[in-house]
Amino acid sequence: SSALSIRQLTKTYGNGFQALKGIDLDVAEGDFFALLGPNGAGKSTTIGILSTLVNKTSGNVEVFGHDLDRDPAGLKRCLGVVPQEFNFNQFEKAFDILVTQAGYYGIPARVAKERAERYLRELGLWDKRNVPSRMLSGGMKRRLMIARALIHQPRLLILDEPTAGVDIELRRSMWSFLTGLNREGITIILTTHYLEEAEQLCRNIGIIDRGEIVRNTSMRELLRQL
Ligand code: ADP
Ligand code: ADP
Repeated sequence: SSALSIRQLTKTYGNGFQALKGIDLDVAEGDFFALLGPNGAGKSTTIGILSTLVNKTSGNVEVFGHDLDRDPAGLKRCLGVVPQEFNFNQFEKAFDILVTQAGYYGIPARVAKERAERYLRELGLWDKRNVPSRMLSGGMKRRLMIARALIHQPRLLILDEPTAGVDIELRRSMWSFLTGLNREGITIILTTHYLEEAEQLCRNIGIIDRGEIVRNTSMRELLRQL
């Protein structure tokens, strides 16, 4: 079945700039998919639309059959998004940020606390559970963003440049964490402008340039043709 289906998606910003020119994209359940493209290609715009922070101009988006226009609540339940910018409450502690997020999904407190502990441990943040988010390093905040996006156990996780500005050691540990999630059955889409990252992690790839999907193929096929 299909985790993500995008049809003829366009976005024209208020200043008249056309950031997406009618993109089509399909990601199958269980896939680890890279959306690769240079800066300005339209990756964040696409993710912004999926996370309902950006209004699309036209086209259709479905996540596990939940249509963005007709069933936004259903779509949100099966989707976790890790945006590029940190948007935490600066004064809230790491553990509390996760429990608060779980509350937005109606997850009972006991379950929320168990999951918060699990993800903080798996992401190497358990020691930081009582630290206010503003005191965390960039790499720690990035991992906390991932934990927060997972707290409602989405079937599809989308990450916007998850390892941007992260050192190589942390990058590798994030890669292995994400690979483990995918093995458990979570469909993952990440955007990147590093071919190496896509190559390490992903089975399929879409290449976006100036608001258009210019290639959509398997990683293996792409590497064979390079
Ligand atoms: P929309 O048309 O979707 O309502 P707007 O054009 O009103 O979006 O812009 C939304 C926000 O993005 C504004 O705060 C604007 O300042 C900011 N913005 C404008 N141009 C850019 C740009 N090139 N890159 C990133 N953000 C921008
Ligand atoms: P990417 O994530 O691939 O770097 P973006 O989706 O952020 O690309 O941006 C795509 C294009 O849209 C860029 O040219 C960017 O400057 C422009 N853009 C992004 N946000 C806005 C905005 N709010 N208003 C006008 N232009 C924007």
